[in-house]
Parts: sequence; C-alpha cells; structure tokens
Amino acid sequence: MDFSHAPADDGFRHEVRAWLAANRPARAERIPHDEASLAEEFGFLRDWQRRLHAAGYVGLLWPREYGGRGARPTAQAILNEELARARAPQLLNRVGINNTGPTLIAHGTEAQKRRYLPKILSADEIWCQLFSEPGAGSDLAALRTRAQAEGDGFVVTGQKVWTSYAELSGWAILLARTDPSLPKHRGITYFLLDMRSRGITIRPLRQATGSTEFSEVFLDGVRVPGEQVVGAVNRGWEIAMTTLAHERGTGFAFKEQVLQRIALEDAVALARSIGRARDPAVRQEIARRWIDVEIMRLMNCRTLTRLERGEEPGPESSLVKLFWAELTQRLHELGLALEGPRGQLAEGRWQQTWLWSRVASIAGGTSEVQANIIAQRLLGLPR
Ligand SMILES: Cc1cc2nc3c(=O)[nH]c(=O)nc-3n(C[C@H](O)[C@H](O)[C@H](O)COP(=O)(O)OP(=O)(O)OC[C@H]3O[C@@H](n4cnc5c(N)ncnc54)[C@H](O)[C@@H]3O)c2cc1C
Repeated sequence: MDFSHAPADDGFRHEVRAWLAANRPARAERIPHDEASLAEEFGFLRDWQRRLHAAGYVGLLWPREYGGRGARPTAQAILNEELARARAPQLLNRVGINNTGPTLIAHGTEAQKRRYLPKILSADEIWCQLFSEPGAGSDLAALRTRAQAEGDGFVVTGQKVWTSYAELSGWAILLARTDPSLPKHRGITYFLLDMRSRGITIRPLRQATGSTEFSEVFLDGVRVPGEQVVGAVNRGWEIAMTTLAHERGTGFAFKEQVLQRIALEDAVALARSIGRARDPAVRQEIARRWIDVEIMRLMNCRTLTRLERGEEPGPESSLVKLFWAELTQRLHELGLALEGPRGQLAEGRWQQTWLWSRVASIAGGTSEVQANIIAQRLLGLPR
C-alpha cells in the first residue's frame, strides 16, 4: 500500500477545498419523501452537477476528447473526500457516470462515445439502468425480456423492475435476450434505449421512505435502432460485466468512508447532547465503530494503490462492499438506538437515514452474493 502524496495532489486538494467553500449549495441534499420532493431534489441535484461540470470536476478520469480530464485515480479520490467532507450533495447522473460512461469508453463505437459521453457529464441527459427483472436480480443472466431483430433494428418486449430514476431519465442501458436458444449467459444483447420511445410504460414503486425513486418499467414492442447496440449482438453479458464492475464506481470508495465518519461524528454529538457519552456500553459501541471506519479507510487505500498501478479492483471489491454495507447499517442503528424510545416516534435525521441504509445490503449486489464471491474467489472454497 502506498500512502505517499505528491505535492501536485496537495495543490489539487487545496484548489477543490477553496472552490467548495465558495460554491457549495447552501442547503444539504435531502432524502425525498414523496413525488413532489423527488422532482425538487432532481432539479436541485441537476443544477449542482452542472456547476461541478462547469468547474471541471465531473468525469475526472475520462479521456479529454469526451469531456473528461484524463486525471489519475488519486485525483478522483481527493475530489471525493473533499466533496464528502464539505457535506456537498452527490452527483445526479450516477448511472450515466458510473455505469454507462465506463462501459461506452471500453466497448462503444467512436460515434457512440462522441454522441453520449459529453451529455452524461453535463447532466443534459440523465440515465437509468434496465437490468433487473422480477425473476432476474442476483441471477441477472436469467433475464427474459426479448429483443427481436426487425429491419435495421430490434423490437423489445418484457418487464424490468427497481429502475432508479426511470421516470426522470432520458436514456437507459438495457439488457435483452436476442437468442433464447443459446445458454443463458449467451444470447443477451446490450442496448442504449431512448426512454421517450413508444411502448414504454413506467409504474413507480413506493419505498419505505415514502419516495417513488424506483419503478417497474414495461416494454411493449419498443423499437431500438441497430446503431444503439453496444458491442456485438448476443455478446452483451461480457459488456454487462464491465458495467457491474464499475457500478459502485470511482465515486464510491473515498466518499463513502468520509460519509461514514460524518455519521459517526453526528452520533457522538447526539450522545453528548443527551448525556449518554459516559455510558460504558455507548462508549464501547462508538469505539468499535471508530475502528471499523478506520479499517474502511485502509481498505480504500489498498483499492486506490491497485488502481494507480493500472490494475482492476478484482474480487476484493466484494470485501469492501460487504464491509461497507454492514458498517453503514450499524452506524445508522447506533444513531437510532441513542435516541431510545423517542427514536420510534420522531421523524428526523436518523429515521430517514436508517430506512435508507437498508438499501446498502441489496443494491449493487446483495451481501449474501458478496459473501459467495469472497468464499469462492478469495478463499478458494467450493461452490
Ligand atoms: C434502492 C435500489 C435501487 C436499485 N436500482 C436498480 C436499477 O436502477 N436498475 C436495476 O436494474 N436494478 C436496480 N436494483 C435492483 C438490484 O440490483 C437487485 O435488487 C439486486 O441485484 C438483488 O436482486 P433481487 O432484488 O431480485 O433479489 P434476489 O436475487 O431475488 O434475492 C433475494 C434474496 O436471496 C438471496 N440470494 C440470491 N441468490 C443467492 C445465492 N446464490 N446465494 C445466497 N443467497 C442468495 C439474496 O441475497 C437476497 O437476500 C435496485 C435495488 C435497490 C434496492
């Protein structure tokens, strides 16, 4: 692991910190609790991404010719840390930036890269991900949505589910089966879908937080032109693997570790304000979580060292995802537990973030699936 910092990195950190001090929005990001607050949050986050983009802080690692800065992973890690430390809102176009962009950079045609990448960074086109289906989540290759070749394109019919921001997105990455006669990991094709196409019906799903951030999406004879296929027909599974490898993205690691530290600091402040900071059980719990946050930081340093050497994150990323998910949930449980019986009645910071923290062990691959990967690929245990 390499902990050293180049002077240029410190310079970049100061530049970002100064910019954030002058430009950070006055209000914090909010967890939406209904349709109106979801739409308001969408507009607020789009404005914020546009300001960051204008300052050159979106797509740091992307090639310059598509609007990026061609920077090193350390610069992205520094930016993430500073954004989190300033409690700045997150980027709106996360699917576009973390999933669509890296996939097109690796597998897209030159025309696709020029057409789609710059508008992802500028938040002019917001993306969603049409992968999961009612019978295909952890076992994604079981997907049944069909795409039949017709003329110079395809006609897609099927159902997707849990599509975040479906209603508010202009474009989607879509997996559909083009040859059902092939084994399940083959015969899948990767498409770019215009969400304004005819034949798309979106039915929002209400979450425990009250928000309708994700939806069911029904595709009924939707036409997709041939130039919107990514890579070769029937070879979409390999391309989907690139998307999933980037899903938690370069924006994830260092930002999340700082956010966890902030949650812990907030819990400590709460313990003090209600006179529970001297309770031995509370002190033990806080000390354990402080050690966990530090372990998370060291895991991030190991990932960054690999990325700086030009290596892929590898199966160790499952270790980080599993540890992050459990720690996130424990930190929010700590806040709620400190509030005691009042925590069950109040509707404040901890109630909302506790509900939201349940997502951590499901989205981006469940904790059980991460444990399987760790067992088989890191520990060499049998299936
Ligand atoms: C907030 C949120 C946003 C999401 N956004 C999107 C999105 O934008 N686009 C999209 O395509 N999807 C999205 N998803 C879907 C997400 O990818 C799936 O929920 C996830 O992959 C799990 O699939 P599933 O829900 O079908 O559960 P299942 O796969 O049915 O799993 C059910 C349970 O069985 C366990 N299980 C399954 N297989 C195994 C196994 N082999 N060994 C041990 N245990 C197993 C799981 O761990 C889980 O506990 C989102 C999910 C959430 C929660």
